[in-house]
Amino acid sequence: MDNNLKSKTYDELIELAAACGQKAFTAKYLFTFIHQKDAADIQDITPLSKAFRQKLTDDGYTISGIELLEKHDDPDGTIKFVFELADSARIEAVRLKDGKRNTLCISTQAGCRMGCKFCATGQLKFQRNLTAAEIVDQLYQVEKYCGKIHNVVYMGMGEPLDNFDNVMASVSILNDENGRNIGIRHITLSTCGLPQQIRQLSTSPLQPRLAISLHAPNDTIRKEIMRVAAKHSLHDLMTALKSYQSVTNKRITMEYCMIDTINDQVHHAKELIRLLRPLKVNVNLIELNPFAGCPYATSSNNQIRRFAQTLTDAGIETVIRFKRGQTIKAACGQLGATWLKDKE
Ligand code: SF4
Repeated sequence: MDNNLKSKTYDELIELAAACGQKAFTAKYLFTFIHQKDAADIQDITPLSKAFRQKLTDDGYTISGIELLEKHDDPDGTIKFVFELADSARIEAVRLKDGKRNTLCISTQAGCRMGCKFCATGQLKFQRNLTAAEIVDQLYQVEKYCGKIHNVVYMGMGEPLDNFDNVMASVSILNDENGRNIGIRHITLSTCGLPQQIRQLSTSPLQPRLAISLHAPNDTIRKEIMRVAAKHSLHDLMTALKSYQSVTNKRITMEYCMIDTINDQVHHAKELIRLLRPLKVNVNLIELNPFAGCPYATSSNNQIRRFAQTLTDAGIETVIRFKRGQTIKAACGQLGATWLKDKE
């Protein structure tokens, strides 16, 4: 059981307060002190009675956070933060600057089970799911250095929908008006495509934006570069996405990593257009960021532009995301790359 009060949503704190014979407003004190005022100890929540604070402590509840180990700055303004968790597992988060707005890319697992071949995290051993507290605390720690975070993307280490309950609890906490109050439209979950969890997400009371790590226009290529494709075909994924869209009516972002000759030819773009036709989508083309031991090379800029033009000509809104944070190994697919090198 997760006894960290920082992992609990507002509704869960109301239940906890009620179970302890406390009025609902005590839950508001708990939540605002933890998620707005960054209280690190139950005893610091002074509006609560001493007796209630003592009961929470006696029942084993704590408020604990993650520890910042390293901070790396890239000349392009990107900052990578390395954190250590209580059991010594390490994770990374990346702050991206877009004008005056800060976007934070956060991790949801230590390691990842999905094993995508173009991603450094996928080569690390899966250790465990992060708790909701460990997910939200990445943002709280980064804000101490960078100021307010405006957008949160769940695209760091791990597959968010493989840690569904904790991820959704963290979304609820970050979105709560009694905490950081980050608008739900400013929160994006990115998944490599787990059909069952996508359906589950469509009926959730909270509707963050959804991004799919697609990366291939057909099953043959997808199986070559993504292990998840052996379990879930593109047909299953597309069926889940159609159902998601029929319930939510929300546009989906398709992430497509450009890999030299593997998936970047014009005939691949045409196949992708056919695949995406039934959905309301926009496409992000991402420059591949190879790490030591990565079997692939990045597409040339010309090839990426040609691919983008083909999609745009077919009426698909397409954006090219060129590498950022590369010198500090903070670019997409590079998180954990330094530890891979250590492993070698
Ligand atoms: S791309 Fe995402 S899902 Fe795939 S291995 Fe990397 S972290 Fe895991």
